[in-house]
Amino acid sequence: MTTGVWVLGDQLHPDQAALVGCDPATTRVVLIESASVLARRAYHRQKLVLVWSAMRHAAADLAAAGWQVDLLEAESFASALPAWLQSHRITELRVMEPADRPFRDQIERLDLPVPLRWVASNAFLWSQEAFAVWASGYRQWRLELFYREGRRRFAVLMEGEGASATPLGGQWNFDRENRRPPRKGLVGPEPLIFEPDALTQAVMDKLRRLDAQRAEAGLPPLPGSLEPFHWGVSRAQALQVLEHFIATRLAGFGPYQDAMVSGQPTLWHALLSPYLNLGLLHPLEVIRRLEEAGREQQAPLASLEGVIRQILGWREFTHGLYHWFGPDYPTLNHLEAHEPLPAFLGELGGSGMACLDTVLGELATTGYAHHIQRLMVLANYGLLAGLDPQALTAWFHHMFIDGFDWVMQTNVIGMGLFADGGRLASKPYAASGAYIQRMSTYCSGCGYDPKQRTGPQACPFNVLYWDFLARHRQRFAGHPRMALVMQQLAKRDPAELEQIRRQAQAHREAGPKAV
Ligand SMILES: Cc1cc2nc3c(=O)[nH]c(=O)nc-3n(C[C@H](O)[C@H](O)[C@H](O)COP(=O)(O)OP(=O)(O)OC[C@H]3O[C@@H](n4cnc5c(N)ncnc54)[C@H](O)[C@@H]3O)c2cc1C
Ligand code: SF4
Repeated sequence: MTTGVWVLGDQLHPDQAALVGCDPATTRVVLIESASVLARRAYHRQKLVLVWSAMRHAAADLAAAGWQVDLLEAESFASALPAWLQSHRITELRVMEPADRPFRDQIERLDLPVPLRWVASNAFLWSQEAFAVWASGYRQWRLELFYREGRRRFAVLMEGEGASATPLGGQWNFDRENRRPPRKGLVGPEPLIFEPDALTQAVMDKLRRLDAQRAEAGLPPLPGSLEPFHWGVSRAQALQVLEHFIATRLAGFGPYQDAMVSGQPTLWHALLSPYLNLGLLHPLEVIRRLEEAGREQQAPLASLEGVIRQILGWREFTHGLYHWFGPDYPTLNHLEAHEPLPAFLGELGGSGMACLDTVLGELATTGYAHHIQRLMVLANYGLLAGLDPQALTAWFHHMFIDGFDWVMQTNVIGMGLFADGGRLASKPYAASGAYIQRMSTYCSGCGYDPKQRTGPQACPFNVLYWDFLARHRQRFAGHPRMALVMQQLAKRDPAELEQIRRQAQAHREAGPKAV
């Protein structure tokens, strides 16, 4: 009897649940690189290299640990898996539950010659069932309550034990210390980078061939740059990134978390999401290592708490809510936004707006942008301009190195675009050019003026912001957290508002064209 274990591309941890309990002597492991993924979505080149190279490195690591492993390059899962099962006389196929719902549905539809056994995922701290028990106790789901429960439940940054345990330092949250605008000349620590090894070079060659095939077939080129490629691609490198983060950025994590600086795309951000999302790192091992660093006095408590809140709080929260909200969530469009995506998003530049073009340029190079660039520049533009939420979610999914369905839906549909009507965020994250001017260095290099609301130099974020509020005047009239801005809208001179709205319409019609 031979058991088969299919390790999916984002389940690369050596202790992932489908492998646990199997005997390497009677188990055969498979990883499949499916090219048909490109037929559905043209992913950023850096993302494809990262995922496929990480799979090849994980296959090599598993083989070195004594497993019998096959890495298949196939047109599709359906074309490769049945033949593999038969040729190795596999009697049962074990697969860890995927984090992404559409992927599970796709696997369910495969016509397999042997029984498929789903194994409950151990990739997150909260199981879907445990999250459902927690969520069913509330009518509104807010991060802070979930995060505190996570701290207690997993005994993270707590003093004492059981019901009498209290948060370390007597405080749950140091968020207010994390909002500093960038000071002049702010420079963050250099990120740790890796040069592509032979396995990664082989994947890059494959990408070049795929690109050539797309050109022959008349398909548009894949987005983003292939070179230079500097991401880590193995668990060993992911662990090095974690240690580098602790040594060089953890102590500074926090104060400039919301700052955006031209030429400084990473600042003190952890750069851990690609590795966590591929399973190269487990969130609990990261949290425990961070706690250890705190005990060794390598970082102040505010920084430590700041980053742990992101991983134990936001990451688990968005994953839990994705499953809790169910399959209809990705279709929501509460604000009835239907504008097509502007061409500059597909082309990763060319908007003429310094903030957008800077972030898009950095995204083109690495597939990465930090949280505030994603939320307050990219998604904020989508929200204000009324871009179609499903099209924008798909765009984020194509373009981001760490993009997966489970993390994308709640972050883009919910947090970024308010398309879920406030199930995730208590109000829309809508901001004018004043916010970007305060929190970034972008405006000084821009042809637009962040102080103007009308006229040819007026910052498009201002024009679109007031138009957004006016467009949704009725909808937000009774919203308690929008009361202040709606009062400001009411005070706007009607003639000026009329001009702003005409200008917003012209911006939407002139710049963007459908992609
Ligand atoms: C519109 C939008 C799209 C996003 N798309 C993605 C995505 O495709 N993939 C992704 O992993 N994250 C996404 N995020 C969340 C967050 O922006 C990224 O996790 C973070 O920027 C990754 O960079 P980092 O590792 O340097 O994170 P840091 O800022 O250093 O944070 C540390 C870790 O916390 C976790 N984290 C922090 N915030 C979130 C969050 N809101 N949701 C989930 N995890 C979080 C990540 O694992 C991250 O690695 C998105 C946020 C927004 C607003
Ligand atoms: S002026 Fe407006 S468009 Fe230009 S960088 Fe600032 S916020 Fe962006």
